[in-house]
Amino acid sequence: MALHQAKICMGCWEHMHLPVPLRGVASVPFRAFGIRPSRMNPNTCTICEMMFTKVMKARHVTIDATVLFADLRGYTNLSQSRSAEAISSLLDTFYDECASAIWEHDGIINKTMGDGVLAMFNFPISHADHPVRALQAARQIQGRWREIGHTLSETAERDVGVGIGIDCGQLSFGEFGHSHTDITAIGTVVNTAARAQGAALSGQILLTEALYERSRSELPDSQARDYQLKGFETTTRLYAA
Ligand SMILES: [Zn+2]
Repeated sequence: MALHQAKICMGCWEHMHLPVPLRGVASVPFRAFGIRPSRMNPNTCTICEMMFTKVMKARHVTIDATVLFADLRGYTNLSQSRSAEAISSLLDTFYDECASAIWEHDGIINKTMGDGVLAMFNFPISHADHPVRALQAARQIQGRWREIGHTLSETAERDVGVGIGIDCGQLSFGEFGHSHTDITAIGTVVNTAARAQGAALSGQILLTEALYERSRSELPDSQARDYQLKGFETTTRLYAA
């Protein structure tokens, strides 16, 4: 993985100007207290995760962020022809490629569910251009998946593709559901990104108007179309990236 390995937690530095060592000798005493690189993004730490569970739970903080959903299409058809191991290895490859693209652009993986990934940009590592970073991560995922597709022998495997939806704007964090670790982003941005992903064809990236407006420089000839998204009363304009 080409990920730049930060020496200190980028999230803690951004939010508290606290240098929390993640790697090397300086990190050893911190590790004794359970402070280590986060699984959401190895350039952030477990204190950052606590910002989700404690601070966010108490205050339901609202932030400007970008939400990206990516989901693997067509792999269930493989279950007739391929072994469970082959399918699970394909899913692992998908998660690895998503993680590496998202982390390289300073996003975090908030959740993985079934065959999908929910990523977030601009928290805890802040970047004013988070919509552009999410778009670049999405393109990297699609590009890498196309490369992987060329190496797969079976036609059915090559039909497995990724659909991606992205939206940005104000969203809240909180603790939901019954599990204490079930911390996630909520709000219209999350729903719209999920629905856009649902509307995306295999190999496609669909962006909302808000995302398009904030990443226009990257999209010189993007095509827009109105979609009737599930659960929305009016049509939603989405841009193919
Ligand atoms: Zn941290």
